[in-house]
Amino acid sequence: MEITQQGDVLSVKHSVEYGGFKSDVYMYLVDGMLVDTGAYRVLDDVIAFYKDHKDIELACITHSHEDHTGTAAWLAQNRQIPIYIHPMSIETCAKPGEYPLYRHGIWGQRDPFAALPLADQMDSCTKQWKVLHTPGHAADHMAFLNRATGMLFSGDLLVTPKTKIILREESIPTIMSSIRKVLTYDFEEVFCCHRGYVKDGRQLFEIKLDYLENLSGEIIHLYEQGNTMDEIKCRLFPATPVLFELSDGEWDSGHIVRTVIEGHKAQMQV
Ligand SMILES: [Zn+2]
Repeated sequence: MEITQQGDVLSVKHSVEYGGFKSDVYMYLVDGMLVDTGAYRVLDDVIAFYKDHKDIELACITHSHEDHTGTAAWLAQNRQIPIYIHPMSIETCAKPGEYPLYRHGIWGQRDPFAALPLADQMDSCTKQWKVLHTPGHAADHMAFLNRATGMLFSGDLLVTPKTKIILREESIPTIMSSIRKVLTYDFEEVFCCHRGYVKDGRQLFEIKLDYLENLSGEIIHLYEQGNTMDEIKCRLFPATPVLFELSDGEWDSGHIVRTVIEGHKAQMQV
């Protein structure tokens, strides 16, 4: 566990490794508000952090994936603080996490917990947070914006500016809409759950949107020339990432190609 401080934000970082795949995962504490709760696999470390920070008054969760909700059950049982999430995920969170075995290996088992619905605006001790529905990575994905300071907790919306592989349930056109949505607000600093603190986060979001727009244009162009989705995938993403094999295709560059073409077809029908 590595704890760093940026202004009044504490960043808590864990690095995990499984089957050749490595990832960092961050949770944050700001003004008595926890943003995400990390993975169950690192629960012992996170409990030590919670024990050092008795001032946690609420937790706001960006989305229900197991690397963001892993220690929520411990918090609910041992701290009795309210835990907020998108209303659509309350039922999911009340049951043990259901996801493929390799994700249990990477992140651990997510225990059930009782969650409350996030409102349009959330209050921490002294600050107000605008809650932005930002689907695409997950349907229930939320970002938290402090309009006074221009600070954005972006969950998994940013992660990398050059996306090369996504989950089956993700959608590139929806991610692009969500990035356009956050860019309509004034913000600079970004706290990403896998990248950590990004001082010029706004710029990185602009680079990501630009990359995805160009990539989508290329995919649609190749598709209209008569290439199949598989041919486009092989041409644009020749490397096979570890995660593709490990996840048996739940993570695949092909999902990028498919969702861009599906989005294009849907737009043509309008
Ligand atoms: Zn996620």
